[in-house]
Amino acid sequence: MQWSHKQWLTHTKPEADMKLRQLGIPLQYSIEIDGGSGSEVDSNSSIRLSPEDRLSKGWRDKSPIHLMLHELAHVFFNKHIRKNHRVVDNPETRGLFGDLNKVYKRKPGPKKEQPFYYTKYAQSHPEEEFAEIFALYVEADGDMRKLRHHLRLEGKAARVYKQVEWMDRLIRSVAGSRRTRT
Ligand SMILES: [Zn+2]
Repeated sequence: MQWSHKQWLTHTKPEADMKLRQLGIPLQYSIEIDGGSGSEVDSNSSIRLSPEDRLSKGWRDKSPIHLMLHELAHVFFNKHIRKNHRVVDNPETRGLFGDLNKVYKRKPGPKKEQPFYYTKYAQSHPEEEFAEIFALYVEADGDMRKLRHHLRLEGKAARVYKQVEWMDRLIRSVAGSRRTRT
């Protein structure tokens, strides 16, 4: 059975919000499913999800919440990472993702699944790769044992494990700095 856009929102948004809250990184945002091709997340944290994207094969192969968390990754990225030079210009970050602030242009052409990348879509731009790893991490509630097990089953390369470990440290540090500020 295929969910309507509304059903998808009703199911995935509260679950995504709860997962983010539990990790200590709640996000304020709005989301609508509207318009033509190509989803967008603007600097005011409003997500416009393209209906075509939601129904495309690549996303349907993943769990329903994966796409929601992928879009929220861009909201998180805009808020905490884009202007954070300590993170973006860090040699470890560069080694694992490349230049996260690279001018946005998706790499064209069909992509194949490969062990070096968590998903096909992760190959299209460093920020998209960040979003894919963020979605993976949050969906698993940051449970590193579960994540390592999952990556083993999927036959992923050491690079992807390191990206997930990097994400674990990043999320903990953002959650920690939010806590000490209040
Ligand atoms: Zn994206």
